[in-house]
Amino acid sequence: MSNASDRPLVVVTAPVREEGGVQRLRLNIAYTSAVERSGGVPIVVPPFGDAREAARLIERVDALLLTGGEDVDPSRYGEPRHATVSTVSGPRDATEIALVLEARARGIPTLAICRGIQLLNVALGGSLVQDIPAEWPGALDHDPGGDRGARTHEVRIEPGSRLAATLGTPALHVNSFHHQAPRRVAGALRATAWAPDGIVEGVEPVADEWWALGVQWHPEELDGADTRLFRDLVERARERRAQPALS
Ligand code: MN
Repeated sequence: MSNASDRPLVVVTAPVREEGGVQRLRLNIAYTSAVERSGGVPIVVPPFGDAREAARLIERVDALLLTGGEDVDPSRYGEPRHATVSTVSGPRDATEIALVLEARARGIPTLAICRGIQLLNVALGGSLVQDIPAEWPGALDHDPGGDRGARTHEVRIEPGSRLAATLGTPALHVNSFHHQAPRRVAGALRATAWAPDGIVEGVEPVADEWWALGVQWHPEELDGADTRLFRDLVERARERRAQPALS
């Protein structure tokens, strides 16, 4: 067991929910528990009023975890809003885009889950399928509900990708709680995982300098190979921290 001071600090973003007219942060504990179990120290951050302050946070931490929640505002990728897009948070979009761009600039290890993979793709210039049932003929049910740990569809993993190296398998069954997904993958990213219906379920940077993984499923709710996503996030953060010349 390492010293507490060796444990990487991981920024964990969080959704906003309005309840009875009150704006609240509402983050599933599974995210922070997964970071903690992997040896990281989770730090939950809210949407900032000034996204530039969020970006400054990145120089003081070791890793970034983008979590699930609201739809990204389609205006961020230049499209009118589909009728099914109801919950958006301008401050959260702005905060997370600032975090992503700063993490990329500084090479901060990043794991992006569900909304996170979508936000990552949009932040770097990609677009989204706004509503899979309405816009993707022949789509599987990507939001069947039920047990959050239930593995409901397969994904194929691109051989040779970082994702394949982390998971150690060319395919796995995953859980699925989403109605959106990456459509046009940003030029700085490449797709690394697909559901059987062709929906993109994984992306990562084309360049080697930035360790980042985006997945459309929820590994924080799963065991087995999926725990390696958090293990590698914390391990890359620890390695980077041990090399001050690169920070
Ligand atoms: Mn899915």
